[in-house]
Amino acid sequence: MFRLLVATKNKGKIKEIKQILSDLPLNLITIPESDNDNVKENGSSYLENALKKARQFAQKYNLPTIADDSGLEIDALKGEPGVKSARFLGEGASFDEKMSKILELMSDAHKRTARFKTVAVLYLPKEDKYFATEGKVEGEILRKPEKKEGSGFGYDPIFMPDGFNESFSMLGEGIKNKISHRSKALMKMKEIIQREFLGGEGMVEIKINGKRLPANKYVYEVFEKVIMALVDTLKDVPEIGTIEIKIEKEKS
Ligand code: IMP
Repeated sequence: MFRLLVATKNKGKIKEIKQILSDLPLNLITIPESDNDNVKENGSSYLENALKKARQFAQKYNLPTIADDSGLEIDALKGEPGVKSARFLGEGASFDEKMSKILELMSDAHKRTARFKTVAVLYLPKEDKYFATEGKVEGEILRKPEKKEGSGFGYDPIFMPDGFNESFSMLGEGIKNKISHRSKALMKMKEIIQREFLGGEGMVEIKINGKRLPANKYVYEVFEKVIMALVDTLKDVPEIGTIEIKIEKEKS
């Protein structure tokens, strides 16, 4: 099965990424707890930071690697904390402290519009090549945090997405993962993974005992050639929708 490393130790993110990519035949691997490597997220763009994280871990583990970098852009704070969201108030500050500071800075602000943005990167170490996708969700900053224990992370308690009347934290993972910045970027990445590594939608679908064959595009290409040759041989038979190939395991 196609192995993909997720370059983050943030448990909230891992849970979201796993949920969003759960229907792909992928073996999602996370960084071992014992790995103490830290990536300095000091780039000037989300892309720079995401690529840095993906490339560092991809080269270390020699695996295709997915990473993302996100930020909360608040219009009343001129787009801050933005790409510095993780570093806002210094690395030791808790999210309660960061959120209190934001609410304090915005105590007089009437315009409370804001957005979460994500750039996701899939880096391929063998080819030294990457794919990048973006996602954003518009909303506003609440006047006080609304937090549901165990739901969401980071700045979720003070962000209310457009079209809802509760914070991301209160809405819960089910809704968040359908509309969030990260889910939008990952849904686009999912299409790239499907196209580049899992055969792609335009190609033949190969199922074994009803389950999609978790093979890479080269296997699919070979199968496709075989099937096209069969279809060509059978071209005088009208309307072939499905070709069934029965593989019988040799009995030992
Ligand atoms: P990074 O992508 O982990 O660098 O995220 C930057 C900062 O934004 C971190 O402090 C995250 O906790 C925060 N952040 C990223 N995604 C979310 C989210 O979905 N909800 C709330 N905070 C987030």
